[in-house]
Amino acid sequence: MGPEGRPHDLSPATVAVTAGRPDRTPGGPVNPPVVLSSTYVSTGTPGPGELLYARNGTETWVPFERALADLEGAAQPALVFGSGMAAIAAVLSLVPSGGRLVVPRHAYQVTLGFADDMALRNGVEVVRVDIADTAAVVEALRAAPTSLLWVESPTNPMLEVADLPALVDAAHAVGVPVAVDNTFATPLGQRPLAWGADVVVHSVTKYLAGHSDVVLGAVVVDDPELHARFLAYRTLHGSIAGPWEVWLALRGLRTLALRVGRSQETAVELARRLAAHPAVAQVRHPSLPDDPGHKVAARLMTGFGSIIGLRPVGGVAAADAVVSALRLWVPATSLGGVESSLERRRRFTTESATVPEDLLRLSVGIEDVEDLWSDLSQALSAAAALPGR
Ligand SMILES: *Cc1c(COP(=O)(O)O)cnc(C)c1O
Repeated sequence: MGPEGRPHDLSPATVAVTAGRPDRTPGGPVNPPVVLSSTYVSTGTPGPGELLYARNGTETWVPFERALADLEGAAQPALVFGSGMAAIAAVLSLVPSGGRLVVPRHAYQVTLGFADDMALRNGVEVVRVDIADTAAVVEALRAAPTSLLWVESPTNPMLEVADLPALVDAAHAVGVPVAVDNTFATPLGQRPLAWGADVVVHSVTKYLAGHSDVVLGAVVVDDPELHARFLAYRTLHGSIAGPWEVWLALRGLRTLALRVGRSQETAVELARRLAAHPAVAQVRHPSLPDDPGHKVAARLMTGFGSIIGLRPVGGVAAADAVVSALRLWVPATSLGGVESSLERRRRFTTESATVPEDLLRLSVGIEDVEDLWSDLSQALSAAAALPGR
């Protein structure tokens, strides 16, 4: 039995439901309460673990932090932050002024923007690599002393899949710590700490909360010193989450396995149909046997995720026409909600220039697969029928 009297070998789907519950007391609640208090009664020198002030810690964070740590298989409680970017900023503080940071050439665009800002203001050397090209990453790590290897896998929005254990081994061989943004895969898809990664970050906003109603982030580590460091960072910077948001995220987390399971299943089917559609120039999903990420994903991941990359025949005009013609799919940024959504990523001038102009990033939700397909296929046909095509 685990420390809370639960068996150690529960499956992740069960852990998502059971972790972080209050003790079983007759008449006690099944769910943890939301406590709205900025301060706590305190006299004299606070005892160890005593709540003091809500920027330092609150009881409402604890069950979520426990549950996410259990899902990632972490030895320390997770640390919840006010957004994914707040969590990422905390982890990137591991890179000192004048340090060297290796990042994927395609990754969440604001993470890359943050790295560029570190280059500008703190003289950090930022090296961009193709994270799916293990030899290229190893070469970058060996070229000069490096402060941190940042990994996203699958990458946003290009869906490149990293050979995580190989990258972790190569980085550790030259003394470089590894941080993994596990937002796309979720802890049900891969557990980077089990491969030896030092830090996992999440945009909790996406699959973990899962209902497009909160913005939140989290950092997960095994090492007590790293935990203390990121906890101190959160308190010093005040990059904290509100209690309501964390309570909603825990409520969302309870159905993680159902949501992720359904949306992945649907994504596999939609990717297969899209690959055969005459109005589609290219489709990227690691489930497709000829996708560049398929082999590594099949070996390392449980499931292939529910983000699809789609390039319609006809370039940017056709891509924009598809977005406008959809009735069920929501045209919006973000991903990982119960509702299916999509956007053309290069509509943001800040997106990497090597992301194709006409790439649509589809986030598959939990609606009926046939409803999603009929909307998508009518939109592709409408775009293909545009004048001039
Ligand atoms: C959305 C996202 C982030 C940023 O998280 P926020 O919660 O929006 O701050 C980081 N990484 C990935 C992969 C994302 O998709």
